[in-house]
Amino acid sequence: MGIFEEMREELNFFGGFRVTLEQMARPRVTSQYPDEKKPKPPRTHGRHVLNRYEDGMEKCIGCELCAGVCPADCIYVRGASNPPDDPVSPGERYGFVYEINFLRCIHCDMCVEACPTQAITESKLFEFSFTNRADAIYTKAELLVGDDGHPQHMPWEDWRDGDDQNTSAWMRATSPGGRASYEGRVSWSGELGYGVRAPERGQALDPPGPLAEVFALRESLASHLLAADRPEAERGMKGVAYRMRGRLEKARARGRARGRARAGRAQAGGEA
Ligand code: SF4
Ligand code: SF4
Repeated sequence: MGIFEEMREELNFFGGFRVTLEQMARPRVTSQYPDEKKPKPPRTHGRHVLNRYEDGMEKCIGCELCAGVCPADCIYVRGASNPPDDPVSPGERYGFVYEINFLRCIHCDMCVEACPTQAITESKLFEFSFTNRADAIYTKAELLVGDDGHPQHMPWEDWRDGDDQNTSAWMRATSPGGRASYEGRVSWSGELGYGVRAPERGQALDPPGPLAEVFALRESLASHLLAADRPEAERGMKGVAYRMRGRLEKARARGRARGRARAGRAQAGGEA
C-alpha cells in the first residue's frame, strides 16, 4: 500500500464524524418534556368533554349514537326523559348516564363525528394516566364541563394552556365530500364559555376575505414548521450562530445579575 493510500485510509477516520457534524448544523428539536410542552396540532384527539349550550343546558340528548358507533365499545349512555319543570337539555331527553372507559378508547373521534348536537368533543389533553381502573372510567360527573364552560381538571391530568382550544371548530369544517366551498362555514352551535367557535381556515393558502380572520393550521403549528418555513436566521449554520448568540446574551445577563447581587451584598455588609 502506497503512502497516499495509507493517508487516505487514515483520513477516512474523519468520515465517521460526518453525520455528527451535519446534525450540529441543524435546528435542535429536543425539548425538555414534560416541563416544556410544544403546542399541539389543532386536530389532536385527547380527553373527551361533554359540552353545554351557552345558557348552561347540556347538549347531550341521550341518543346513544356515540355509543353505537364506537369501535372500542367504550361508551355507555342511558337517556332519560327531561323533567318538564326543570329540563336538563333542550328537547325530550337528556343523557342520564354517560361513561367512557379510557382504558379502551383509541381516540378515533368517531363518537364526535356521530354526535348530532356536538355534545361530545375531544380536548387536546392526552397527558393523563391512572393507578386503578375506576379512575380510568370517566362518568358524566367528570366529563361534563363546569359552570364556566371549561373542562374539569382531575388530579392526575396535566392541563396546559391551549389544551381546550378549538376542540370542536374543526368538526364540520368541510363537507363530507371535501368540497372547498364549505371551508370556513360554521355549522355548529355555541358553547358555554366559548360562544360560537371559529372554524379553522383549512388547507387553502389564500382564503377569501372573512376567512382571513379565522386561524390557520400553519399559524397554530409554529413548532411543527417545515425547514423551508423557518426564518432564514434560524436555519443551518446561521441557525447555530443565532442560537449561540442567544445563549451568550443569556449568560451575560446572568453574569450582570450576579454582579449586581454581589454589589448589593457588599454594600449591605459595609453599612453594617
Ligand atoms: S374516540 Fe373512538 S374509541 Fe374513543 S370513545 Fe370515541 S368512538 Fe370510542
Ligand atoms: S354525546 Fe351526542 S351522540 Fe352521544 S348520546 Fe349524547 S347526543 Fe347522542
